[in-house]
Amino acid sequence: MTHVIEHSPSGRAKCRGCDTKIGKGELRFGERRPNAFGEGEMTLWFHVPCAAYKRPEPFLEMIDDQADDLAANDLTVARTLKPAAEFGIEHRRVPRLDTVDRAPTSRARCRSCQELIEKDTWRIGLVFFEEHRFGPSGFIHAACAEAYFGTTEVLERISHFNPALDAGDIHAIEAALQPQASLD
Ligand SMILES: [Zn+2]
Ligand SMILES: [Zn+2]
Repeated sequence: MTHVIEHSPSGRAKCRGCDTKIGKGELRFGERRPNAFGEGEMTLWFHVPCAAYKRPEPFLEMIDDQADDLAANDLTVARTLKPAAEFGIEHRRVPRLDTVDRAPTSRARCRSCQELIEKDTWRIGLVFFEEHRFGPSGFIHAACAEAYFGTTEVLERISHFNPALDAGDIHAIEAALQPQASLD
């Protein structure tokens, strides 16, 4: 199945990775999959960075297959994201990273250490790709990132998928990601 990369002909499609619209003319990535609802194929659309972060395998297949067909600046954009996709292959749980916020209650358990995530503690939401979409898959403490992902090098994608976070939040999350950080 050949994945596609193209400039979006309309502004109607929503990105499967971040759930916001893909603007008209914006470069988008289409992951082709067998149709989950019937015959033939279906295409899942993503912003190009969202695909590199959350669907690294098909993203890298696309770069390998279509490098020759891409316009020079589109190829540059895609290649710039190649390390992010490769990082997601190397650390196979990293593409699950989704929303990051302070726990609104103390009821959820961390998927890594199994302890409760205390109210107001920074937590990382996880999603799991099934067939044709991402489903919510619980949370981990920000401090459990190293244990769960095998790395704490995830700030760039946290910023990407959480555009509402300000510089102060990012700074606080950066500190919280360190395994030695106190959870209180
Ligand atoms: Zn997106
Ligand atoms: Zn934990």
